Amino acid sequence: MTRIRSRGVVTTRHLAAVLVLAACTPAEPPPDERAAELARRHLIADTHIDFPIRRHFQPDAVGPMQSEGQFDHPRAVAGGLDVAFMSIFTPASAAEAGTSTDLANSLIDAMEEIVEDAPDRFGIAACADDVDVLRDSGRLALALGMENGSPLGDDAEHLDHFASRGISYLGLTHSRTNAFSDSSYDTSEPWQGLSPLGVATVRALNERGIMIDLSHLSDNAAWQALEHTEVPVVATHSSLRHFIPGFHRNISDAMVEAVGAQGGVVQINFGSDFVSETAQNWAVARRGAVAAAFGVTEPDPAARLAFDAEYRQAHPYPYASVGTVLDHIDRVVTLAGIDHVGLGSDFDGVGDTLPEGLKDVAAFPNLVAGLLRRGYAEDAIAKILGGNLMRVWRAAEAYGAASGNPPPCAQAPGLSDRGRPAPGADRENAV
Ligand SMILES: [Zn+2]
Repeated sequence: MTRIRSRGVVTTRHLAAVLVLAACTPAEPPPDERAAELARRHLIADTHIDFPIRRHFQPDAVGPMQSEGQFDHPRAVAGGLDVAFMSIFTPASAAEAGTSTDLANSLIDAMEEIVEDAPDRFGIAACADDVDVLRDSGRLALALGMENGSPLGDDAEHLDHFASRGISYLGLTHSRTNAFSDSSYDTSEPWQGLSPLGVATVRALNERGIMIDLSHLSDNAAWQALEHTEVPVVATHSSLRHFIPGFHRNISDAMVEAVGAQGGVVQINFGSDFVSETAQNWAVARRGAVAAAFGVTEPDPAARLAFDAEYRQAHPYPYASVGTVLDHIDRVVTLAGIDHVGLGSDFDGVGDTLPEGLKDVAAFPNLVAGLLRRGYAEDAIAKILGGNLMRVWRAAEAYGAASGNPPPCAQAPGLSDRGRPAPGADRENAV
């Protein structure tokens, strides 16, 4: 009897203890639920979204409030995105036509117009502190990253102009070698890396507090940029060559290690062609089929669209998965450490090649859920989502400020004595 009562007492106490414990540490929510909460609470920075050029060519289909593409405001909010780096991309053809400076200015104008039209939803982030101001007020930060140095002009004479417009990073070249650098897609490599102007521009970017982007550079050029920069750099939208041997647009393990050792960050590109060898092989095979069908002549756009649709029907595209992207993140962590990896989706830049579960800016919680399932702790996830990138951005700005060039913040007060140019100011000089 006593024993039974005693056991009863113990059981009651045990139960009470369990209840108290349960009240203190509620059961972990499932990863998807927790992922959505983490995506909302932690800063997410995506360093490469090709919304500006897509909108430029498809003004009716691509609006900031509703888009047929992969980025718009409602979906950015749903995904927890805080800082969208708008790619100020100009193609090699614009450089050849002498129009890249004008095009870059018009793309930045368009981003400023978006903010003017909906100042309660968007703001330009011309410095890292701007991101905090915009985030605190519930607005999406549009940062500006320049892809291709051609708009700077043949002597980089427009660099100060674009610095004053709030460019936060710059990649010296794109698909073809230019006055600054050899390109990873261009095997001719006339500079064997950076040109003398490219080397000088690396230093000039450092002094203006603008991050240097390694994506699209040839290996030699990227190594030389690392050699000459005084501050950590970023690969804004590159995945790992390890998974697609021979694909030089992705970066090598040695480069990942070097970027990390120097304090920089590798922002993983989500495109299936960038993360999956099967998808990359598909793309190579399709290019061969296009060449066989059309020869060297530029196909009529309608004929090309019809060809692509037919080709996809006959050869279904092998989409990667969230897990494929996570494999790249894991490998950067293994090679360089948790402080050196982040996200550069290439949304609106890679067409219909995005992995299942990562189709647009609403999908960041899926990535977070995958990180949780792989055992990443919350502080590690926060670094991947944006903490690492913000650290590199601030380091670049600090060097610029020490060189006499504080960042031209658009939102945060008291950080710049340069202010922003009046609309249209120095445009004449720039073009
Ligand atoms: Zn690119």
